[in-house]
Amino acid sequence: MYSTVISYILFGMSCITFYLFMHMMKPENRKQWENFYMGMVLLSSSIWSFCYSMLFAQSNIEAARIWRSIGQYGVFAFLSLVIVLASHWTNISAAFKRFMYLFSIVLGIPLAVLTGDEQSATFFVKNGSMYYKLTSGFWNNLYSIYCVAICVFLYILVWSMIKQGKRKKERAMGKKLLMCVNITGIGMIFDTIMPQFGYLAFPGSTLGQFFGAVLLYSTVLFYNKSQLTIENMSEFIYSYVKEPLLVYDNSKKLCIVNETGKSFFDLPEQFEDMTLEKLFDAQNKEFYSVDKKTEIETICRNNGAYCNVSTVPILDEYKESIGFLVLVNNLSEKMQMIHELEQERKRADAANEAKSKILAQISHEIRTPINAVLGLDEMILRECESSEIRRYAEDIGKAGKTLLNLVNEILDFSKIESGKMEIVEKEYNVLEMVRDIRNVLMSKAERKGLAFQIELEEGLPYELYGDEMRVKQIITNLINNAIKYTEKGSVCLYIKAGERMEDKMQLVIQVKDTGIGIKEEDKGRLFQAFNRVNEEKNHNIEGTGLGLSIVRQLAELMHGSTRVESEFGKGSMFETVVEQKVMSEKTIHGKNAILDWEKGQLEKKVVKEHFTAEGARILVVDDTAINITVVKALLKRIKVHVDTATSGKECIEKATRTSYHIIFLDHMMPEMDGIETLEALRKESSNASEKAVVIVLTANAIVGSREMFLEKGFDDYMSKPIDGQLLENIVEKYLPRELIHYE
Ligand code: ADP
Repeated sequence: MYSTVISYILFGMSCITFYLFMHMMKPENRKQWENFYMGMVLLSSSIWSFCYSMLFAQSNIEAARIWRSIGQYGVFAFLSLVIVLASHWTNISAAFKRFMYLFSIVLGIPLAVLTGDEQSATFFVKNGSMYYKLTSGFWNNLYSIYCVAICVFLYILVWSMIKQGKRKKERAMGKKLLMCVNITGIGMIFDTIMPQFGYLAFPGSTLGQFFGAVLLYSTVLFYNKSQLTIENMSEFIYSYVKEPLLVYDNSKKLCIVNETGKSFFDLPEQFEDMTLEKLFDAQNKEFYSVDKKTEIETICRNNGAYCNVSTVPILDEYKESIGFLVLVNNLSEKMQMIHELEQERKRADAANEAKSKILAQISHEIRTPINAVLGLDEMILRECESSEIRRYAEDIGKAGKTLLNLVNEILDFSKIESGKMEIVEKEYNVLEMVRDIRNVLMSKAERKGLAFQIELEEGLPYELYGDEMRVKQIITNLINNAIKYTEKGSVCLYIKAGERMEDKMQLVIQVKDTGIGIKEEDKGRLFQAFNRVNEEKNHNIEGTGLGLSIVRQLAELMHGSTRVESEFGKGSMFETVVEQKVMSEKTIHGKNAILDWEKGQLEKKVVKEHFTAEGARILVVDDTAINITVVKALLKRIKVHVDTATSGKECIEKATRTSYHIIFLDHMMPEMDGIETLEALRKESSNASEKAVVIVLTANAIVGSREMFLEKGFDDYMSKPIDGQLLENIVEKYLPRELIHYE
């Protein structure tokens, strides 16, 4: 009876540990090293329990002895594996670990064989139950010592975990392991130590090892929790994610919500029926899709927050949906920020526009007096005999032009800034453009003692379509800089054909100099407006720091770019690429292409004669007296009759009375401006100047204004400051032929 009960109990234990062993051996579990070892410990425990259950179920002594000898293998495997597993969790020295492994395994194998033989135990049957006693002898004594040593090792490991463990987790595991060693140790007393003193063996260690193994199993599960696993991660994400997270099943029942979600939606205790349609204002919006992720932006009904709601189907191992995971991203703050930034940008744009307007206004105002200075200066140059005064006048002219240049740069810059710079495209001749640049800049370079060279690539198109004036401005700016920042050596202009795309091409402009060069660290800010670099060297070179910024922006307007290569102290190379249309397949050839072209032009040209037009009547209208004086003076040479008016009203009075051939009409005038005056003039029925050509004079040099004036009814347009030659040309163009006399 006694042995039957024990046999059943042990058998039950064996089944339990075998079941746990199977669980640990599942593919997803055994991947982890500790789980695999725990599985082996459970298997040894199961063999141990099973063999001892069989032992007590026998009535045959021989059969019982055989079961015990098999069971001993389970015993020793169990003890050695527990040592390996427990030492894995501690930081105890590697040498000691090795000693423990050697001791438990090397001594465990012969002990497993020899403690299971006939001499080690005496079996007998009493009242139908199987009993056994251990026979004292060398191997059994060694067996007892072995068991005690294993217990001591385990205590050392436990001590090391509890006392030296760096993490709380390790110390907690140490405590669990302590329980497991205590139980196994106590159990051992009954069948390992007591039988040594002649007591009958009670399978205490088999019972103890079972509880020990189960405790160890729970320790491993506890250990697994601290490992990075899908379960741990999901739990962590679930509780710590800062955004609301909801999980619905297929029938749209809300099953799981994290804490953030509960407070965000202010959910009641019973939240199962809170579908997404109830949580969000989402008419006609399809939140759930069983086969794909959906993303919807909508408003939360509870707090009015603007949210991005993304729903992902949760799939089972057959890839079928079992529910939905919903992540809610509250975008309200971001939207608010975007809104504020947008407001900020609008304010900045408005401020920038105001600045550009003021700049344009100021430069416009400055151009008017410069107009007077340059015009009157030209009169002095034309009329004055004294060479000394002419020299002064030349200097005034130079200073005036520099000032005009500066104002033009500011005006250009403000136009680009406010997006008002227009690219006006027309056909132009490349050689003529380069010739003009050479004429203006060659003498400037030579006056400074610099060699000036122009190289046009063989095969460059002869005629292009683009904004010649702006291309010229880019090249002039770059060459002017090269001359300004070079003391000796040379300045070279190279024009090459870059990439060709159908009827378009990249015109590559390179300006090289042997000047002061640019430091590496300065290159980045060269192209920023109002930025001048290397100021200690350049302080006496005049400039605004706007030139390169304008070059870059003009190039960008023409779908191109600008870059610089430079070595400080040795020289620089600025390259600008602009996109231009190719007008004809005719190309430029030969080193002297410009000279050849000029020769050809000279042959064609009828030398322009000076003319006079004594019978012509011209009316000049401007509210600024000095401007009238300038125009009058510039027209003196061609001997026309000039009348003047200082307001729109006076203009109409005079024009209706006298028949004028040409009327020069200023745009900006108080009371009636140029456009209003023209309209009134055209309406006047008794108008003696009905056939007069009306030309607007304006300091408004913004591109596009010419077209605007022509549309308003003006016959032509002249911008201030007025160029004497251009003025004569325009008069020649519009006067009746019979009034013009060539000398
Ligand atoms: P700035 O009116 O001062 O010449 P830019 O915008 O044309 O203004 O040029 C900006 C700065 O770049 C200049 O102040 C000068 O220091 C530097 N720089 C421009 N071109 C050259 C060059 N060819 N060699 C050396 N430095 C140059």
